[in-house]
Amino acid sequence: MPRQGTSMSRDQLLLMLDTLVPLRMWELAGRTETVDVDALTEAIASHGDDLEFGGPDEHQTRMALVTALALLALSRPDGVDWAGGHWCRDHDACTAYRRQAESMTS
Ligand SMILES: [Zn+2]
Repeated sequence: MPRQGTSMSRDQLLLMLDTLVPLRMWELAGRTETVDVDALTEAIASHGDDLEFGGPDEHQTRMALVTALALLALSRPDGVDWAGGHWCRDHDACTAYRRQAESMTS
């Protein structure tokens, strides 16, 4: 049963994400099932304040955020940055992609 009414600092949120996003990436990698991205977006958009202040939808919202970040990290060649965190599939390839993208814009 998720706790209700707990608040989480940004550092605590980032620590949680640094732990759970790679695990979720591992769970999702290679799967062929679909993920309901609209439901993730709805959970985050509707209950994002629960991430910071706690609430009845806190656990569901956190897990939606973890899954959304994991999906972005797996699908984007440069990974995803959010709230000071960075997650990607292969950081060497991610760094090379970013360098190449920067060289094309400068
Ligand atoms: Zn990276």
